[in-house]
Amino acid sequence: MSALFGNYGRRPVHLVKGQGTKVYDEAGKEYLDFTSGIAVLSLGHANPILVNAIKEQSEKLWHISNLFDSPEQEQLAATLVKDTHLAHGFFCNSGAEANEAAIKLARKHTGKHTIITFQQSFHGRTFGAMSATGQTKVQQGFGPLVEKFIHVPFNDVTALEAAVDDEVAAIMLEVIQGEGGVNVVSDEFGKAIAKICEEQGILLIVDEVQTGIARTGTRYAYEQIALKPNIVTLAKGLGGGFPIGAMLGTAEMYDTFSPGTHGTTFGGNPLAVAVAQTVLNHVFEKSFLREVMKKSDYFKEQLAKALPADKFSVKGRGLLLGLGCGEAVAPLITKAEEAGLLLVGAGEDVIRLLPPLTVTYEEIDAAIVILAGILIN
Ligand SMILES: *Cc1c(COP(=O)(O)O)cnc(C)c1O
Repeated sequence: MSALFGNYGRRPVHLVKGQGTKVYDEAGKEYLDFTSGIAVLSLGHANPILVNAIKEQSEKLWHISNLFDSPEQEQLAATLVKDTHLAHGFFCNSGAEANEAAIKLARKHTGKHTIITFQQSFHGRTFGAMSATGQTKVQQGFGPLVEKFIHVPFNDVTALEAAVDDEVAAIMLEVIQGEGGVNVVSDEFGKAIAKICEEQGILLIVDEVQTGIARTGTRYAYEQIALKPNIVTLAKGLGGGFPIGAMLGTAEMYDTFSPGTHGTTFGGNPLAVAVAQTVLNHVFEKSFLREVMKKSDYFKEQLAKALPADKFSVKGRGLLLGLGCGEAVAPLITKAEEAGLLLVGAGEDVIRLLPPLTVTYEEIDAAIVILAGILIN
């Protein structure tokens, strides 16, 4: 009997160290990590610049709480909103917490309750975030859920228009549904959302927990479909492996989160902030972002060459790619692992390809060789 709850279907591999894209189990077997700890390790495993950032901060100050000024949090928030229409940041510890903050802010700001989200979306496991999530398997057995979430079919303009009324506080959207199958918002749907929000005074919350922080080749994925969210949530890649989440909002939102309205003990902890600032100093560089796009183009081209197009489809943006396989992917993921490639699924029949943003072209080639060996037979 395990001393842990059985809420994860864990794979029987004990990983003990990593460097860049490579990880090693206790027997010394090497794997290419194309999960990045689920889109978290933006700069790879044990990147010396992050090791150094945490070492330096750990010798100065670990924790102070939010009772005191934090110029470091100020700087991190300023870096996140620089050259955007957003103005303020709030720090927490995870994606679900960032979404909780967003849901609370949207309700309090508008005085309305309804939030429209989408089928197959994933927003986290806390009550608000779970209720927002458009997958019944995530909610089963935990009701009653938080009220007033409406789950509309993704990329369906007519269904969205039909769901809108004057009770709606916000629309909450993943630009690419990560967990749900690497489903990308269509241009048409993006435009319809922008128009509805603008015309009806509905807030737009973009959940960038998985897509944000350079994962899709721009700082935020919303930039690529010209949306102007009022609220943006972040986590996964932000800390490069150290837990941190964030919610960003426009200047109009400022007064709604007045002193005492919301908070967290650990949020914006000095260790997390020091690491996240170092991550941003690298991944927000224009040259770094261009390189993510180049690797993405290369990865997609090579996949298309290696795999028959009638069976496999490549989707996604940047280094958040999905490989539609037309069959259940769990057994394929196990075979890849045996062959030294770590992968994670999205939905039932999609393999997610999430290497560190620092992945090399040689590592992409090596991953494709393994994939082709498993998928074509
Ligand atoms: C992972 C994820 C979350 C939840 O983040 P946690 O840190 O696990 O709470 C929320 N939204 C999206 C889009 C995610 O991918």
